[in-house]
Amino acid sequence: MIKIYFSSTLFILLTVLSIRSFAQNTSIAQSEEGGQYPAGINDAAHPCITPQQYELIEKQIAENIKLLKLDTRQRKTTSTLFSWPLQTSAGLIDCSYYYIGNYVDEDPTSPGVKDYNCGTVTYDGHRGTDICSAPYPFLKMDNNQVNVVAAAPGTIIQKSDGYFDKNCAMNTDTANYIIIQHADGSVALYWHMKKFSLTSKIAGQTVSLGEFLGVVGSSGSSTAPHLHFEVWSTSSSATLKDPWAGTCNSLGGATWWVAQKPYTEPAVIKAQVNSLPAILPGCDTTETPNEDSCFTAGATAKFYFFLRNETPGDTVRERIINPGGSTFASWTHNSTTSYLASYWYWNKVLPATTGIYTYETIYNGITCSKNFVVNCGALGMPTMTELSQVSVSPNPAGNTVYIDMEGMENGNYKISLKNTIGQIIISDIAAVVNNAVRKTLSIAALPNGIYFLAIESGKTRIVKKFIKQN
Ligand SMILES: [Zn+2]
Repeated sequence: MIKIYFSSTLFILLTVLSIRSFAQNTSIAQSEEGGQYPAGINDAAHPCITPQQYELIEKQIAENIKLLKLDTRQRKTTSTLFSWPLQTSAGLIDCSYYYIGNYVDEDPTSPGVKDYNCGTVTYDGHRGTDICSAPYPFLKMDNNQVNVVAAAPGTIIQKSDGYFDKNCAMNTDTANYIIIQHADGSVALYWHMKKFSLTSKIAGQTVSLGEFLGVVGSSGSSTAPHLHFEVWSTSSSATLKDPWAGTCNSLGGATWWVAQKPYTEPAVIKAQVNSLPAILPGCDTTETPNEDSCFTAGATAKFYFFLRNETPGDTVRERIINPGGSTFASWTHNSTTSYLASYWYWNKVLPATTGIYTYETIYNGITCSKNFVVNCGALGMPTMTELSQVSVSPNPAGNTVYIDMEGMENGNYKISLKNTIGQIIISDIAAVVNNAVRKTLSIAALPNGIYFLAIESGKTRIVKKFIKQN
């Protein structure tokens, strides 16, 4: 049930190392520890949708289309373009939140596998794209932090909700899902969602682009919380399409994405600092990040990072930045193994000087940081404002940019978007309630380039840089 990209011996070794590191909290590791995380998702032995389920949903869809008097014409061509089917909720301030666990299997032979890029990020017979929440997928699910949204506008033609949502293995359970028909007759399946999280809309109602459909879960035949996103060019499962354009796509040709993401997106998706180890239990237990912001001067802390698409030969650079901006300590992680998702941590002795520090990680040219305080008491317990986290995503951004603010004092913050020559292009206000807010800015009309977002209150000013790239 685990997607294995390395020898089983190494896997066992890494598993033993992981268990050991979590068990012995008091020992200070002399070397880096970590490995694959989490334990992987569906594979050929655990298909996301069983053949019996395909048969059933096809019948249900046919009935619903008839009942709803929907268009059943078979188009010669399709014109639907998808935006990303997941969005984070306000308050999730991690650097990213997903990795792709499986693409569509383009190899008709069994047990042969081949994804659209001629790689093997799929399992035999897989018909969708599995987008997995990470890290802490069950915690994210419990807190409704990763939402499934309509990748294209359309009409709901089938919906299922109310089924158990913390499965860890193949089963014959019904999933919580939504099936949407687009204007060109093509159909998208959104599978495995959280029980009772689905939109109240029913079959026959329309949804707009980006509209909330549900929360990522592990319902149906699923081994971890993820979205299985599947595309048909008609309402028949026989017209399966692979939305990703690439050399080995024999099921579609042109991309179905407004902006197709790269085949792999190597990045640090979360950086965190801990006193105690993060608790990463197996499916289906909610994880405990044990993330801290305040530390004792000179104590030892654990510096974690979680990676997507770790690639052998790559280096992750890590450093602790002093309050003044100089480097307190720096080290590197040298990748030797491929992982879709992995995590690593190192124990480091903290600075003795009181102040607000930054733990910075850089991988594949992308920075992911986390602020922390040494000697909170001596600082007179800094306000949440001093520890507040502001993130701008995605970066690069397309037509929309999200500003997520967490740990802010409640009130109104001024938002200014400036270009590289300092001209203010957008001025707006973000009202922080319950110490967090997600602000959405439309940047569709702006030319591609580098922009700066300033978030200001009477006593705080944070500036974030991002790239607009369409
Ligand atoms: Zn799947």
